[in-house]
Amino acid sequence: MFIELDEEQRILRETIRKFVENEVAPQAEEIDREDRFPRDLFLELGKLGLLGITVPEEYGGSGSGLLSQAIVVEELARASAGLASCYAAHSNLVVDNLNWHANDWQKRKYLPGLCTGKKIGCLAITEPGSGSDALAMRTRADRDGDSYVLNGTKIFITNGPIADVIVTYAKTAPELGSKGISTFIVEKDFPGFSVGRKMEKLGHKGSPFGELVYEDCRVPKENLVGEENAMVRMVLAGLYRERVVWSAEAVGIAQGAFDIARKYAMEREQFGRALAGFQMIKEKLADMALEIHIGRTLIQRCAAMADAGVKADVGLEASYAKLYACDMSERVTSSAVHILGGYGYTKEFQVERFFRDAKAMPIGAGTSEVQRLIIARRLFGKI
Ligand SMILES: Cc1cc2nc3c(=O)[nH]c(=O)nc-3n(C[C@H](O)[C@H](O)[C@H](O)COP(=O)(O)OP(=O)(O)OC[C@H]3O[C@@H](n4cnc5c(N)ncnc54)[C@H](O)[C@@H]3O)c2cc1C
Repeated sequence: MFIELDEEQRILRETIRKFVENEVAPQAEEIDREDRFPRDLFLELGKLGLLGITVPEEYGGSGSGLLSQAIVVEELARASAGLASCYAAHSNLVVDNLNWHANDWQKRKYLPGLCTGKKIGCLAITEPGSGSDALAMRTRADRDGDSYVLNGTKIFITNGPIADVIVTYAKTAPELGSKGISTFIVEKDFPGFSVGRKMEKLGHKGSPFGELVYEDCRVPKENLVGEENAMVRMVLAGLYRERVVWSAEAVGIAQGAFDIARKYAMEREQFGRALAGFQMIKEKLADMALEIHIGRTLIQRCAAMADAGVKADVGLEASYAKLYACDMSERVTSSAVHILGGYGYTKEFQVERFFRDAKAMPIGAGTSEVQRLIIARRLFGKI
């Protein structure tokens, strides 16, 4: 399958690249150092029509596809993984998700504000006791008259501490196990909702991250997304979308580190010549470029399949892309630090920032082990 970006996607890449070079890159080091959510940049993304990039215009979006969203995330991550994570959690996990699964009333109520960035979204599935085994969640939602009453705690939620709109999951029929989970839209002002600990993390600084607590949190029945107990079907149908976007972030991080290492290798001289003149450094950079290219190609292939409506194997393709691109970002950023030698280990060239950011990529959105399990299941069934 040959993938070529169309005219619209090429213009999009140029536009976002210019925005990143002019607006994001100059702030990226400070965002990381101060662990500051760049609300100004987030709102700019809204003005550029990128927060609702996959949403039809009637709900406030720009009506483009998953490949376009992957391009935006990759370009953002090339300068700031923190901003890219805020964007991905909001624009993919919430906005794109609601566009697929919410009803017309819910879309009209929530999507316009989310598309401009006036409202910030997060998606909360992980709990202190259930991560990879997410369906073992303990949060409950009990029907009481015209509302559901939620009790439980979510953890590691990107945008959680600043979110206005939370897409969340809870057991409505615990006796049915994973088949008894439902999806809800919670607003931060609903009684019984609170933000717990804000957690400090190794990288992706600038993307607020932490715990959410539901204590007898009342959610109107209108905020049930889809049917009761339909969560697994809905989530499984859309997992590939989250994995494509998360993997594109990994490629952006790897590309950002590569750009620094390549420039440094051409400028830094040892033994009377530029580092790039040494065969072993050339080989390392060539291997890094190849790995980034493979990662990007896998992602674009999967996104293009999704946009074309090719359903068969899109989930498997997403797992290949996720596993390869995320593990690759760790290898490439590590090599980049190495090429800069002692300077690479300092904060002077910011390459260590990309190295820290890459570490999260094989953990979030289904760990590398989980992706291997998915791929192996296709090879061996349930052996
Ligand atoms: C930067 C970042 C952002 C995140 N954002 C969000 C968010 O917005 N919303 C949200 O809900 N969650 C979010 N998460 C949470 C993320 O989805 C979980 O961290 C992830 O699913 C792994 O769960 P866990 O951390 O509980 O690890 P665990 O599931 O406890 O796994 C620990 C280790 O054991 C391995 N392991 C687990 N099961 C198996 C198995 N069967 N076979 C082999 N190895 C196994 C894992 O691969 C991992 O290496 C985020 C995480 C990170 C790092």
